[in-house]
Amino acid sequence: STVTIMDIPFINTTRDEFVTHHLIPHLNRQQKCFVVTANPEIVMKARENDSYRQIIQAANYIVPDGVGILKAAQYQRQPLQERVTGYELTLDLLNYANEQGLSCYFLGAKEEINYKAVSEVKKTYPNITIAGHHHGYIDIEDETFAQSIKESQPDMIFVALGSPKQEQWIVKHKDKFDKGLFMGIGGVFDVLAG
Ligand code: UDP
Repeated sequence: STVTIMDIPFINTTRDEFVTHHLIPHLNRQQKCFVVTANPEIVMKARENDSYRQIIQAANYIVPDGVGILKAAQYQRQPLQERVTGYELTLDLLNYANEQGLSCYFLGAKEEINYKAVSEVKKTYPNITIAGHHHGYIDIEDETFAQSIKESQPDMIFVALGSPKQEQWIVKHKDKFDKGLFMGIGGVFDVLAG
């Protein structure tokens, strides 16, 4: 079920159930999937900007990433079960990718942060195939670049360009892909890089 806050429908589940019952089945069937981890800032931006709202609403799943979202849901008397952060979801997905030997692409952050984050991922999750990685200071309209990512055939594409760029990039390019779980993860590479 979902709880709608300012026109944004949030999935109402625990993180564990979300991963097990939604994300993993998509990955197993190689069905494309777009996940938005929305904090109050994103909800406000979507309220002010129609085209950004449409981009967010194009997601298969919107998860509540912030206590402000849980508070708003409570205020509507439609409490959400759990906060689900982009950081925790990233770790869950990397774990699953490691177990299954899936392939991941890492797009975003500054060059040295991106490199460091990928090195840490390689150390912690040695069974993941690194489809590729690239810093996030790119032209989000660049079709050739997106095509080259598609050709690396990743199962998961982590996009850390900040909002709204990361969601814009995903919606602009995901149709070219045959498969892939796409998730915008903001500053997560900075955290992974330590
Ligand atoms: N970033 C990027 N390209 C850009 C803008 C930002 O790769 O054009 C990266 C930035 O280096 C950082 C991440 O996006 O690693 C998150 O940036 P920010 O904190 O500005 O976004 P937020 O987390 O607030 O959405």
